[in-house]
Amino acid sequence: MLSEAARGVSHVEFRGVSKTYDGRSYSVRDLDLAVRKNEFLTFLGPSGSGKTTSLMMLAGFETPTSGDILIADKPVTHAAPHKRNIGVVFQNYALFPHMNVAENLAFPLTVRKYPRSDIKNKVDRALDMVRLGAFAERRPAQLSGGQQQRVALARALIFDPVLVLMDEPLGALDKYLREKLQYEIKRIHAELGVTIIYVTHDQSEALTMSDRIAVFDEGRIQQLASPADLYERPASAFVASFIGENNLIEGTVLEAAAGLSAHRSACGATLRARHAGEFPAGRPSILSVRPEKVSLMPQPGACDNVLDVKLEQYMYHGDHLRAVFRLAGGGTMMCKVPDARPLGQARPGDVLRVGWKSDDCFAFPATRAS
Ligand code: ADP
Ligand code: MG
Repeated sequence: MLSEAARGVSHVEFRGVSKTYDGRSYSVRDLDLAVRKNEFLTFLGPSGSGKTTSLMMLAGFETPTSGDILIADKPVTHAAPHKRNIGVVFQNYALFPHMNVAENLAFPLTVRKYPRSDIKNKVDRALDMVRLGAFAERRPAQLSGGQQQRVALARALIFDPVLVLMDEPLGALDKYLREKLQYEIKRIHAELGVTIIYVTHDQSEALTMSDRIAVFDEGRIQQLASPADLYERPASAFVASFIGENNLIEGTVLEAAAGLSAHRSACGATLRARHAGEFPAGRPSILSVRPEKVSLMPQPGACDNVLDVKLEQYMYHGDHLRAVFRLAGGGTMMCKVPDARPLGQARPGDVLRVGWKSDDCFAFPATRAS
């Protein structure tokens, strides 16, 4: 089969890209990634996992230690940043404090020697796009954080780049503004049809905005998939626990066949789960099940995994209830149910039955402490 690059649909490619700053530890390890044209692709991962370093190498502010980066099939690994024609937005606005909003927006056009009349038109259009028409004369210091970040966004887009990189652009904003601007960025992405590579450590932001998400950990992409696939088919215990909430239970493989396996759990019960690849008997495993997939007091026969657990506490969340249970072999498990009915008169310390389907449970090899 032809690669995406060979078929001409990939816009950006990392080929075996590694980066070490000190010659000893690697911040990015052997990164292979093809970003599609017009895609909204997110780098998601914990702090220090190599997201910014990868983006900086693509923007041209850092040089890979080895490997190649291609934009539109052309190697750019050693090209100067301004030759790459990429729009960039960072977390800390980076607007010019001595220029007003219109001058900030005009700057990328002036350095690219656009004619004066073009500049005026483009600045007006950009101000409309981010709904800041009334703020052209203001200095950055006279704007709120959200407004400043809108200016930064408009400035990254004003010279019509086909590729835009955003590194935690909403990280400094409060939740309300963040959600508003997430929506704005998605609207602009749909309107302009640009390729966006977006960096965040916020999984809900990644899930709501992205076409695909690359989950980073320790300088490597652990999984690259659509939000729904990441959520429903995590490839490792790390991804399962990083994306959304998950209960993780330690176990040992009893038997495995055709994607379904049985495990002896640390709490003594036999639990059944789905898995990928080879899974030999005797191997330590980690089972994961999402809190919303765990039923409280399930009907007999409704779940092929059942455990008797001790209620530790429950919390009312308005639209749902969370109950935390202590497992027999140590550790806790959380379950999320629509209302308190299945709890009945239960009090902390009471033993209740919980259950879930093997179809909603994933087993992974226990490769490291999790
Ligand atoms: P992220 O953006 O995912 O938080 P970074 O790419 O910033 O991660 O960092 C990855 C690793 O590289 C970290 O261990 C960080 O300390 C290291 N690192 C990043 N930038 C530099 C630098 N300029 N000099 C030395 N080490 C760096
Ligand atoms: Mg970073």
